[in-house]
Amino acid sequence: MNIQNNSNNFDCIIIGAGAAGLFAAYSAGTRGKKVLVVDHANKIGKKILMSGGGRCNFTNYYIEHDRYLSKNPHFFKSALAQFTQWNLLDLVTEHGLEHYEKELGQLFCQHKSSDFLDFLKALIQPLDVEIRTSTSVTKIQKNKLFNLTLSVNDKTYSTSSSSLIVATGGLSIPTMGATGFGYEVAKQFGHPLLPTRAGLVPFTWNNKDKERLSALSGTAIPSVISIHNQSFSHQILFTHRGLSGPAVLQISNYWNEGESLDIDFLPEHRLSQWLADQSSQKSLGTVLKLLWPNKFVQIWFDQFDLTMQVAQLSNAQLHELDQMVHHWVFKPGGTEGYRTAEVTLGGVDCDEVSSKTLESKKQANLYFVGEVLDVTGHLGGFNFQWAFSSGFVAGQNC
Ligand SMILES: Cc1cc2nc3c(=O)[nH]c(=O)nc-3n(C[C@H](O)[C@H](O)[C@H](O)COP(=O)(O)OP(=O)(O)OC[C@H]3O[C@@H](n4cnc5c(N)ncnc54)[C@H](O)[C@@H]3O)c2cc1C
Repeated sequence: MNIQNNSNNFDCIIIGAGAAGLFAAYSAGTRGKKVLVVDHANKIGKKILMSGGGRCNFTNYYIEHDRYLSKNPHFFKSALAQFTQWNLLDLVTEHGLEHYEKELGQLFCQHKSSDFLDFLKALIQPLDVEIRTSTSVTKIQKNKLFNLTLSVNDKTYSTSSSSLIVATGGLSIPTMGATGFGYEVAKQFGHPLLPTRAGLVPFTWNNKDKERLSALSGTAIPSVISIHNQSFSHQILFTHRGLSGPAVLQISNYWNEGESLDIDFLPEHRLSQWLADQSSQKSLGTVLKLLWPNKFVQIWFDQFDLTMQVAQLSNAQLHELDQMVHHWVFKPGGTEGYRTAEVTLGGVDCDEVSSKTLESKKQANLYFVGEVLDVTGHLGGFNFQWAFSSGFVAGQNC
């Protein structure tokens, strides 16, 4: 991996040194291509470093099609089949990257996320790949070649290549270098864009719930959360700002502004039946605390007299308890937005990109990979696998 050389003509220029761009560089480099990767950030792979709670959940054993969202539900299948999680694991194993399965097939680095970035650097190291950080692309012109004007420290210079791969990611976490630049390039070459919104993102309170429920901050409850026939079962975490936790992040991909969610805080039992099995002499508060933390019981059931005996509950009260526990209708005030979102939904419309090669159907030798495209995975390593699979495929075709 050269950090700087003097020649400015490349077989392939990749804009964006994130997961997709670095993998595209590896893939093209293994074909003997002379590659330049340009990133405006001062370091490569920043999102890899902050991913998976510091351990980078880099793929999943169960990469299945229903784990991805896109307006075109067939688009991502070819790339995921051309470079699978098993192909990635072969490379990971070959390079001795220690990893483990946390749960549900999710594969994490054993130690830290930087180990994964080191693995990617090691893949690229022997190849004719040059990486220029702190470098902006100020202009792209297409003649016979792609001619790019690059800028470093306010000094501009030109470079050219026969093919161009756009790997600039989405809009989430602007402080890590996210920009809408890839969308601008897409527009320049006549690509339609789909509306973007934050995904895998916590919800914020509406005013009414905030007053009552922000006191639950720090409480986690295993739950099932549902909308539009999609359900996710995992912890829900109450925060000062709203709801977070894995189930909430997952369902946020399916939620639209103004909609309500249905939450079940006791998916394993029917509360009214479970209460019928308890000692009828005990107080309601005492038995509810067998199911949930003290703070949750105090706040969630505040309109009930928790000192009353279970036996005294009327049918109407039992019905009300079932509704409160199994069908809480939560209308978020909104989401925390791109500031904390893990991904961006929408983006470059896949209909105008070849699913087999990831080449633009509008402009020969132009490719789009990773999150800039309208492909979004579930939480659990699915987004990185898409970045690697799509980067690999473009690198094989550029
Ligand atoms: C906090 C967090 C944790 C995550 N954890 C996981 C996880 O554990 N597992 C998982 O599968 N997914 C995770 N994700 C999602 C995952 O990081 C992304 O899906 C993935 O990084 C997308 O890869 P990409 O290469 O397309 O984009 P990015 O990784 O975003 O890379 C884009 C690159 O382009 C550069 N760039 C942007 N604009 C320009 C420009 N104008 N000029 C030059 N360069 C530019 C950026 O600086 C960046 O380096 C997480 C995301 C976040 C935010």
